[in-house]
Amino acid sequence: MTEAGTEAVTLNAVSKVYGKGSSAVAALREVSIGLPKGGFTAVMGPSGSGKSTFLHCAAGLDRPTSGSVRLAGTELAGLKEDKLTELRRQRVGFVFQAFNLVPSLTVEQNVTLPFRLARTRADRARLAEVLARVGLADRAAHRPAQLSGGQQQRVAIARALVTGPEVVFADEPTGALDTMTARDVLRLLRETVDDLGQTVVMVTHDPVAASYADTVLFLADGRIADSLTAPDAGTVAERMTTLGAYA
Ligand code: ADP
Ligand code: MG
Repeated sequence: MTEAGTEAVTLNAVSKVYGKGSSAVAALREVSIGLPKGGFTAVMGPSGSGKSTFLHCAAGLDRPTSGSVRLAGTELAGLKEDKLTELRRQRVGFVFQAFNLVPSLTVEQNVTLPFRLARTRADRARLAEVLARVGLADRAAHRPAQLSGGQQQRVAIARALVTGPEVVFADEPTGALDTMTARDVLRLLRETVDDLGQTVVMVTHDPVAASYADTVLFLADGRIADSLTAPDAGTVAERMTTLGAYA
């Protein structure tokens, strides 16, 4: 367990129950974990094991039923909705499986969207830097439909990085990509950790994707069942079979 000061996100006995009464589903059961600053953490587990719920609670997209989440040095439970929204916009980056770009906006407009939402001026130097990093400096005026899936996901990563967030959260970021393109995206995420000291938390069901992380957390039935450090794809796949992922 790492010290509090070296953690970008700390979950303390986080539980999440959806619904009420006989239809209630416990998606997370008292999960306690610290995610290290500057680390790349993958979250794996069978379908329905609570991966997305874990990510949403850790990122302040959803509130736990009980327990506490500390993100970017802030206790989320005490925040009113507007402060939570502000923290999400300024301190956290998100990457989703479906890219979630705005089709009518150019690459540059999509990437600077977080500034517009926060009603702050886009940092031009930062914009140029992230577009160069994701290899799309010459695509700034294109619209998403003019780009390949891999390029669109790189735009989404640029948008996630542009505010210099404490943590980038990615939910199945390679789920809609072919194998080769997926590797480019994973390499890019890995580079943001190695070169920029970015903290990345990524949900995936792909053992190869998980092998790009420093640590893999395995969720099963709403609990952290196991973890692996310096994972290789074979070991991850093997561990998944015993969690019932491929059953
Ligand atoms: P995963 O991402 O690992 O597939 P989820 O976190 O999406 O798992 O879901 C965990 C459990 O919570 C599942 O049983 C799922 O059906 C349930 N669940 C998730 N979101 C909701 C919701 N909004 N309402 C009711 N049940 C939900
Ligand atoms: Mg999910």
